Amino acid sequence: MIEQARIEELRQKLNQYSYEYYVQDQPTVPDSTYDQLLRELMDLETQHPELITADSPTQRVGAAPLDAFEKVTHDLPMLSLGNVFDETEIREWVARIERSLGRSTTYVAELKFDGLAISLKYEDGRLVRGATRGDGTVGENITQNLRTIKALPLRLRQNETVEVRGEAYMPKQSFERLNQDRAEREEALFANPRNAAAGSLRQLDSSITASRNLSVFVYGLGVNTLSARSHSEAMQQLAELGLPTNNEMRTCETVEDILAYIQHWTVERATLPYEIDGIVLKVDRYDDQEELGFTAKSPRFATAYKFAAEEVMTTVEEVDFSVGRTGKVTPRARFAPVVVAGSTVSYATLHNADFITEKDIRLHDQVIIKKAGDVIPAVVSVVVSERTGNEQPIEFPTHCPACASELVRLEGEADIRCVSPECPAQLVEGIIHFVSRQAMNIDGLGEKVVRQLYEHQAIRTLADLYRLDRDELLTYERMGETSVENLLKAIEVSKNNSLERLMFGLGIRLVGQKAAYLLAERFDTLDGIAQAEYDDILAIDGIGSKIADSVTKYFEHPEAQTLIQDLAALGLNQQFLGQRIDQSNAPLAGKTIVLTGTLETLKRSEAGKRLELLGADVTGSVSKKTDILVAGEKAGSKLTKAESLGIEIWDETRLLEELTKYEG
Ligand code: NAD
Repeated sequence: MIEQARIEELRQKLNQYSYEYYVQDQPTVPDSTYDQLLRELMDLETQHPELITADSPTQRVGAAPLDAFEKVTHDLPMLSLGNVFDETEIREWVARIERSLGRSTTYVAELKFDGLAISLKYEDGRLVRGATRGDGTVGENITQNLRTIKALPLRLRQNETVEVRGEAYMPKQSFERLNQDRAEREEALFANPRNAAAGSLRQLDSSITASRNLSVFVYGLGVNTLSARSHSEAMQQLAELGLPTNNEMRTCETVEDILAYIQHWTVERATLPYEIDGIVLKVDRYDDQEELGFTAKSPRFATAYKFAAEEVMTTVEEVDFSVGRTGKVTPRARFAPVVVAGSTVSYATLHNADFITEKDIRLHDQVIIKKAGDVIPAVVSVVVSERTGNEQPIEFPTHCPACASELVRLEGEADIRCVSPECPAQLVEGIIHFVSRQAMNIDGLGEKVVRQLYEHQAIRTLADLYRLDRDELLTYERMGETSVENLLKAIEVSKNNSLERLMFGLGIRLVGQKAAYLLAERFDTLDGIAQAEYDDILAIDGIGSKIADSVTKYFEHPEAQTLIQDLAALGLNQQFLGQRIDQSNAPLAGKTIVLTGTLETLKRSEAGKRLELLGADVTGSVSKKTDILVAGEKAGSKLTKAESLGIEIWDETRLLEELTKYEG
């Protein structure tokens, strides 16, 4: 029977993954993959209850304890938690509870700390035993190691006898430092703080644990020796005993309260100094909890809402190659579509041949992907253990996919390029860049229209944009009177742009907005820049030798000379119209500023430009050299990092104040 075979296969995989995760502290697949397979197994077992066995991963908690440690039998089993993944499942869970109880009840919502479960036994106020969860019934005695955690009191404030449960975790900062040290010593890195915490606690030498900066949150009682009537009351008592409880716990009367709490932490979790992977929901009253009872693996009165997976596994189905405006050929992987951090992802760039070699990515490989900087999909690693032997190396093309001319790899460069001046892909990409908002800002010329113009042979150079014929445009598909009128107007208006926009729009390699501005400001006219000597360009503060080289080389081409003349003849302004700034006296000169998060009243790019006009050096990543971080809404890891480095932080109001103060 097919189901039975699949059940067997799932059990075998899940057992393997559990072993790697719980015993070796080195998972090979992301949690989302494990959770998905476990769900599939649960569904199959629900359909075929006769196939359930006691050793199925659906019936078991964690993994057997390691023999290296003394074993501890828990007074009360340490269970796992059921999972809910979205609003519908949360509503169903609440409805099921209230149906069972026959009435509504109060819930407690807490952060789900991403560490490992521990049990702590205090006798007459003294810590006498600490253990891991193990397989839920028998755990490992790790008392010596837990004693090294500073957050844990070795004595309670009262001589109470109590067994508490909690999570030992590694704060984000300690995790980063630990992995940095390991990288320097060329040791294997921990996949995440959870595995690092587990690896650190299950050490036979407690001095290693002591060096790892672990911490603990206590989140509940074992046997209720405190006569508490509810979870929240118990938590209150544990806090009074001096145990480290978490302050973000909230009671919720309704499912709406629960959803609001989840919504809040979905956004704010990045600001916490420790990782959480979800929210735990518990029925508050102990008598209600008792009435609801347990399944083999988890209590019915509690569940874990899991955040949308940030790392998922998928298959590389195909790799295609595209040509950018600088001729760079970029490989791009197409995946079996998967949901990552809440949205579906089908593609990610593979950057260049070196990236592919370094990660050893092959066609049909299973890869782990995530969203880098929370937006752009990226391949993290290949899951080598999932290889079947059918994977194939990725072959780089030798000829341009757009114009078939031979590709070249320049010495010392990672990129492979098409250097043909006739390459249509480069021209189309070049025009898309030229008309973009940051460059000539021509509205109505989206990617599709540009491609259409190219296909109709209406444009072959940038200058052709200013020679478009109204009547001919009207014959094109989806080009009505109004859109043609608006487009021609936008093109006309763009002729008045200040030089830095034109300079940036030309798409000269390495010349970004900032360099374009500096060049325009220094040389005043396009001709001035074109005639400038390498040394004069290099003398500009903020321009290095690579840019200076790229600019001089560009203007040596006869095509570039023709283009400048054509653009001038077509009436494009080639003068710098902006304000001049004296860099040495600029109010923010010498300040390195990073912008992150969403600003309400202005675009980040605009804010950056205004800060640069005031002399600031606006960069993309936070480091020790950063002076100020401007943090908008939903600021994430950059804010956390800046805070940990003690960098000055401006919110949007402060930014606006500073801008108005200096812009006068
Ligand atoms: P779980 O992580 O889903 O939930 C139970 C655990 O949550 C408890 O044991 C406790 O340690 C923890 N917890 C954190 N905060 C809590 C709070 N406030 N209140 C109560 N408990 C809290 O269940 P699990 O059984 O520990 O393990 C399953 C997890 O391990 C899943 O996330 C799964 O993806 C992962 N896993 C991954 C692999 C892999 O190969 N990647 C293998 C096995 C398991």
